[in-house]
Amino acid sequence: MGSGNDFKKVSAHCLVKPGERADIASRSARFDAGLDDDAYSAALLAHHLERIADLEYKLYAEGKQSLLVVLQAMDAGGKDGAIRNVLGVANPNSCRVTAFKAPSSEELDHDFLWRVHKATPRKGEIGVFNRSHYEDVLIVRVRELVPKAVWEKRYQHINDFERLLADSGTKIVKCFLHISKDEQKERFEKRLEDPRKQWKANPVDFEERKRWDAYMEAYEDAINQCSTPWAPWYVVPADKKWFRNIVVAEVIADALEAIDPRFPPPSFDVRKAKID
Ligand code: ATP
Ligand code: MG
Repeated sequence: MGSGNDFKKVSAHCLVKPGERADIASRSARFDAGLDDDAYSAALLAHHLERIADLEYKLYAEGKQSLLVVLQAMDAGGKDGAIRNVLGVANPNSCRVTAFKAPSSEELDHDFLWRVHKATPRKGEIGVFNRSHYEDVLIVRVRELVPKAVWEKRYQHINDFERLLADSGTKIVKCFLHISKDEQKERFEKRLEDPRKQWKANPVDFEERKRWDAYMEAYEDAINQCSTPWAPWYVVPADKKWFRNIVVAEVIADALEAIDPRFPPPSFDVRKAKID
């Protein structure tokens, strides 16, 4: 079993390098980097969770930078599970999850980034987007909710917006939880069978599933056009939930480590402080 530094790294394989193609179709959603769902993998996840908890505390104390984690997936892709299993260790004071549903009429009366910008993390915070501004080039494109002339300009708008956030002290990482069409079917079937999961079943999702290929095309374009040096995309193999959690945890822990938050020095001379 690895101790600290010699744990296996798995996320590099998932990174879509800026300028390269994601080529989602050629990536196996069952990829697991040769790992198994065993004690080593449990220790690997625990290692990253410890790193996240430690670094998040420093990020909060420092109060100067922030991290934005964007999570996208097809229905039943595991966004909720990843948030629960990976960000469950985060301090609720400084981690905020925002779920983006179909826009309200007020939101539709503004530009597509209006509601998103308001939800971005404050300094010291981790912000998690459960769905995001990418819906505006995914479901909106697939369902033709706006004309092509409108959505095709959004890739550039998104890159510029994310650049603005990055220039303002927000590190951004984006994970597409990639499940196979077969795995989605199995998860939908389980939702119908299991009384504990029936509340999650939604016939609207079964309709969306019929457009699987169009969604994959839209994801491919979004990732290819918007994986940038300041906001990279990761295609996370997500058929195996335990592996998905490891990858997402590693991506987040590494991102926090890269921004290297530090405890601020005390604002007074602690040696002279008197407590009566
Ligand atoms: P879960 O089903 O796990 O609770 P979810 O993210 O699927 O989570 P739902 O309420 O089922 O939540 O679905 C939200 C829906 O809103 C999704 O179908 C998504 O595509 C849609 N949506 C999100 N943003 C937009 C947008 N900008 N325009 C149109 N539809 C959107
Ligand atoms: Mg849903």
